[in-house]
Amino acid sequence: MSPTTSTVPAQLMDGTALARRVGEETAARAAELTRRTGAAPCLATVLVGEDPASVTYVRMKRNRCAKAGIVSRHVALPAATTTEELVATLGALSEDPTVHGILLQHPVGEHIDERAAFEAIAPHKDVDGVTLSSFAAMSFGRPGFVSCTPGGIMRLLDAYDVDLAGKRAVVVGRSAILGKPVGMLLLARDATVTYCHSRTADLSAHLREADVVVAAVGRPELIRGEDIKPGAVVIDAGYNPGNVGDVDFDGALSRARLITPVPGGVGPMTIAVLLEQTVAAAERQLEARAAR
Ligand code: NAP
Repeated sequence: MSPTTSTVPAQLMDGTALARRVGEETAARAAELTRRTGAAPCLATVLVGEDPASVTYVRMKRNRCAKAGIVSRHVALPAATTTEELVATLGALSEDPTVHGILLQHPVGEHIDERAAFEAIAPHKDVDGVTLSSFAAMSFGRPGFVSCTPGGIMRLLDAYDVDLAGKRAVVVGRSAILGKPVGMLLLARDATVTYCHSRTADLSAHLREADVVVAAVGRPELIRGEDIKPGAVVIDAGYNPGNVGDVDFDGALSRARLITPVPGGVGPMTIAVLLEQTVAAAERQLEARAAR
């Protein structure tokens, strides 16, 4: 065995099993809330157009809602929907007391101002963690909802007892829903965070120093096994055609201490966090109403 590889192969971080456990807890909380208040948690799903991948994602989320005892109310809008119409729909759902969480499936069409649409979601119903208010609250450690994939990644790290304080974390990718927020969550846990992106010079040099790598790029196997520091924790959020992640899994396996598989790592945790946050939103709204 080369001195640059770990002596034992990495342990897999099983997102499917963890998501199942989180899902069971969420279902129990939803049932208890329904019993106590007479109202089931409700997630509104909003889809603009009929992009096949988006249709599939929304269907998966609604199926998981049904299994957890969460009502989902689907709003299907035509592809030609304008920003103003979408903002009005999201504003109405934000005002509707029977809706506790709102998910706008994205990306929306290019003719729509996605940021304006996200901002029409009331922060207390932003269970997908997409508003500026949610990002700020998360970054400042204030109450609010986190972006679901980053939230799922943190749950995975915690489930495998990864101590982040003082560790060097390298996040590859800086999107608003994934790279940026996961970096903020790692920072809040006292990791020393470096963001890498398409303009980063010498990505390999950054990766070789990383105790924790989060890959959030969308480029198959961009991150080579030989760039993984022996003993590192590798989180692969990438999901590319053919069930391929952003990390060269076979190459990283012999060097990492812990690694997420693709599929079955980060992916299942995203929906688990969405459902958990929907129930938390419903608890807050229904209990506040009962207290009045
Ligand atoms: P995105 O918005 O396209 O962002 C990709 C990021 O990667 C950008 O910040 C980009 O840098 C960076 N990048 C591109 N090429 C690079 C390179 N050669 N070297 C270093 N950085 C590079 O993507 P996203 O929405 O964050 O998604 C990323 C991946 O995660 C995709 O595979 C997606 O399918 C997956 N994903 C999975 C889940 C889940 O539930 N598992 C959820 C969301 C996303 P610039 O900013 O400089 O352009």
